[in-house]
Amino acid sequence: MSKRDYYEVLGVSKDAGERDIKKAYKRLAMKYHPDRTAGDAELETKFKEVKEAYEVLTDSQKRQMYDQYGHAAFDQNGGGQGGFGGGQGDFGDIFGDVFGDIFGGGGGRRQSRQQRGADLRYNMDLSLEEAVRGKNAEIKVPTWVSCSPCDGSGAKAGSKPKTCTTCHGAGQVQMRQGFFAVQQTCPTCQGTGSIISDPCNKCHGQGRVEKTKTLSVKIPAGVDTGDRIRLSGEGEAGMHGAPAGDLYVQVSVREHPIFVRDGNNLYCEVPISFSTAALGGEIEVPTLDGRANLKIPAESQTGKMFRMRGKGVKSVRSGAVGDLICKVVIETPVNLNDRQKELLKEFEESMGGENSNNRPKAQGFFDGVKKFFDDLTK
Ligand SMILES: [Zn+2]
Ligand SMILES: [Zn+2]
Repeated sequence: MSKRDYYEVLGVSKDAGERDIKKAYKRLAMKYHPDRTAGDAELETKFKEVKEAYEVLTDSQKRQMYDQYGHAAFDQNGGGQGGFGGGQGDFGDIFGDVFGDIFGGGGGRRQSRQQRGADLRYNMDLSLEEAVRGKNAEIKVPTWVSCSPCDGSGAKAGSKPKTCTTCHGAGQVQMRQGFFAVQQTCPTCQGTGSIISDPCNKCHGQGRVEKTKTLSVKIPAGVDTGDRIRLSGEGEAGMHGAPAGDLYVQVSVREHPIFVRDGNNLYCEVPISFSTAALGGEIEVPTLDGRANLKIPAESQTGKMFRMRGKGVKSVRSGAVGDLICKVVIETPVNLNDRQKELLKEFEESMGGENSNNRPKAQGFFDGVKKFFDDLTK
């Protein structure tokens, strides 16, 4: 996948100041924001692209790295969006969801020579009702936690890791290759800067042990498929006391038998009888809060949509509430008895032919058909 240049994405020049970048971002974010473009995958990708460019270009350190190395500067994350399962998640949050930081805290983490623990992902399936109302869930996650006897150091209680004598604690050594001096990870200590001569019995010097953790997660009301919730520091513990990674709870909402969700709006199809459609009336429709009444005006055609304001989903981001859109579909009556058939025949005859003014669609349709054949014979 070739990535577009961040400056190009935002439409600013290479020497644009922070204010110009912010302005450009605001404009594009309004244009592509998922709340406005719900469901359009291409626009959602654009939004992510814009957000990513913005986050890099407004962070002076990241911007400097980007100017120097281009996209390669951030490839250490494994290249994949989100950086799941990959080591140093320093830039992983760029792809995080808009509200991914609500549980956060861990901003501004700097990469140390110690490798941070891996990020974890937990897939959570929710019913539409659960996603709309939010819920508290307990999840069990097999992971690595800091070893308690050695307090994460990896050295047996009472002893301490010693400073590595090869690199003197720097974790890096200079190697000569022809004319060049190259910085390399210290081969003696593998970059940690220290040596454990008397390792802890429980973790064998790793500083962490495997454990299944039980965590409670608060799913905010209004989440949708693709949303992620970040639990800062709940990923795998790092080796030798290095900071833990993050845990991402990835939401996926199951199909609902009645409602189809599109952003904050809900859609449903409601069957109505032919006579209700013609004469008008009131019908009962389902909503997520129970039943509601919907007035059907006389002469409603099949496929007509009725909007019930505020009966949709409350956005987890903006708090705006969507609508329920009911599409009425006229049912053809079945299992008619003789009397009913008789009435319908009588009724049909009363309507006259295709040019009857009782039949608004037929009129236009047959006019169109006539014109079509007239044009053919010309
Ligand atoms: Zn060393
Ligand atoms: Zn230990």
